[in-house]
Amino acid sequence: MMKLCDFHIHSNNSFDAENTVDEICRSAIDKGLFAVAITDHCEAPMIKDGENCEFGCFDKLIPSSVNDTLKAREKYADTLSVFCGIELGEPMHDPESTSKALGYGDFDFVLASVHNLRNFRDFYYLDYSKTDYNEILKCYFDELAETAEFPFFDSLAHLTYPLRYISQNIGFIPSLNPFRNRIDDIFKILIRNNKSLEINVSGLFKNLNSTLPDLEILKRYKELGGELITIGTDAHSSDMVGRGIKEGIETARKAGFDRYVYYEAHTPVLVPFDLDD
Ligand SMILES: [Zn+2]
Ligand SMILES: [Zn+2]
Repeated sequence: MMKLCDFHIHSNNSFDAENTVDEICRSAIDKGLFAVAITDHCEAPMIKDGENCEFGCFDKLIPSSVNDTLKAREKYADTLSVFCGIELGEPMHDPESTSKALGYGDFDFVLASVHNLRNFRDFYYLDYSKTDYNEILKCYFDELAETAEFPFFDSLAHLTYPLRYISQNIGFIPSLNPFRNRIDDIFKILIRNNKSLEINVSGLFKNLNSTLPDLEILKRYKELGGELITIGTDAHSSDMVGRGIKEGIETARKAGFDRYVYYEAHTPVLVPFDLDD
């Protein structure tokens, strides 16, 4: 049997997610997963906004996420490995806030994300009919290359994230050909620094109809010597936990990988794909 885990899940300690860590764990057990990581949102530069932050007060939300996760770890010790993670947004924008975020708990796993460019709102909110999407994408990959150099993360989340919203807005998926060299740069940095690339399967169920990043980009990562991948659903409700992980593994296999990793205390643990499966 293929060993499945989900290393990107949001609990109700994220502003946009609805279920408790306990409900997530029960769903994961029902679906036969052996491990999960709870990775609630922490948009690092917004920590400073405290109670006024539109995404909630991270000073309260993240310690609460850690606390719920540790409780669940104990409760489900016999059936499910529960890891303490964080989805750290924009770690390069404000180093002081970033180090504060990393001090909220003793994390096993840190996902690094870029949800918005410096001085812009989340890609979700931008109007791509009024802005040059290629310019936005250029800035996105530049910021990701910068983020890939950040020392204190484990896996780079949902590469190609803006495509989710650009394609919804303009009605087609823009070509990433102009950014190939930049994406190569990002991969070389990850490989040199022993970081993972995330396969985020949420795109399988949205208009993109593919993982983030997609098969072609994953092939390139492998070609350049990429070995470490994590897989996550980016679930924002307990019914989404584990959904698409098998398809994510299938995509990884097509790209030439024969294993993925999960993280315990920031150390990658290899999970070989079961070829009989
Ligand atoms: Zn994200
Ligand atoms: Zn997420």
